[in-house]
Amino acid sequence: MATTPTCIYHKIMHSITNDLEQSVTKVTEHLAQVQRRLAEAARAASRDPEQIYLLAVSKGQSLAKIRSAYQAGQRSFGENYLQEAIKKIDAIRETDIEWHFIGRLQSNKAAKVAPRFGWVHTVDRAKLAQQLNDHRPHNAPPLNICLQVNLAGESQKGGIEAAAVAELAAVVAELPRLKLRGLMTVPPATANPEQSRPYFDSLAQLQRELADSGLPTDTLSMGMSSDLEVAVAAGATIVRIGTAIFGQRNG
Ligand SMILES: *Cc1c(COP(=O)(O)O)cnc(C)c1O
Repeated sequence: MATTPTCIYHKIMHSITNDLEQSVTKVTEHLAQVQRRLAEAARAASRDPEQIYLLAVSKGQSLAKIRSAYQAGQRSFGENYLQEAIKKIDAIRETDIEWHFIGRLQSNKAAKVAPRFGWVHTVDRAKLAQQLNDHRPHNAPPLNICLQVNLAGESQKGGIEAAAVAELAAVVAELPRLKLRGLMTVPPATANPEQSRPYFDSLAQLQRELADSGLPTDTLSMGMSSDLEVAVAAGATIVRIGTAIFGQRNG
C-alpha cells in the first residue's frame, strides 16, 4: 500500500501531539516534585510551607509548558527578557497570573514593565525605582519591589553592594506607587549548593539590619532549582525555580 500524503500528515501530527502531551505531563509531574522538595525543606527547617512562595521561572520555555503549569494550579511566573515576556503575557491572557520581572532592567524599559508585572525583583538603582514608580498605573496596586543585592561583587551581574542597601531601600519606601517587599540575590554559580549558604545567610542578615533601621520587609527572594533547600533553610520566602519545573531552556 502506498503512503499517501494524508497518511504522512497524520503520522507527523500524531508524533507532535505525543511530544506535546509528554512535555505537559512532565511539567505537571516536575511541578509536583518541586512542591514536595519545598515542603520537605520547610519541614526540615521547622518552617511553615505556606510561607514559601514558588515562582515558576518560564524564561526560554514554551507557551504550552506555561499553560500546563497554569492548568496544574501554578499562578506566578518569572521572566527575564522583556520582549519575550510581553509576547507571552499578551498570548496567555489569564488575568489571575502574577508576572514577576527577574532580569536586568534598563530604566528606559520601566514604562513597559510597570503596567504588566506585579513584582520586580531586580531594582538596583534609584533612577530605575523612580521610573517604575512614575509608570505604575494609578488603578493598579503598588508594584512589589525587591532590591537585588550582588553579594559576591560579580561584574557580569546586576545588583547593588550590601553597603548600598539601606540607602536604596529608603528611596523605594518613599515612592507611593512602589511597595518595598525585600531583597533578592543570585549567588555565584556553583556545582555545590552548600556554597550558596553564606550568601543566603548574608541576605537574611541584611534584611534584619533593614528592619532594625526602621524598614521592615517580608520577602527574601533566593534559591533556584539546584539550591532551593539551602535557601529555605536560610529563610527564603520566594524561591525562583526554572529548569526543575520546565526542563532545559531553549536559547
Ligand atoms: C533563570 C533564573 C532562575 C531559574 O534558574 P533555574 O536554575 O532554572 O531554576 C532564577 N532566578 C533568576 C534571576 C534567573 O535568571
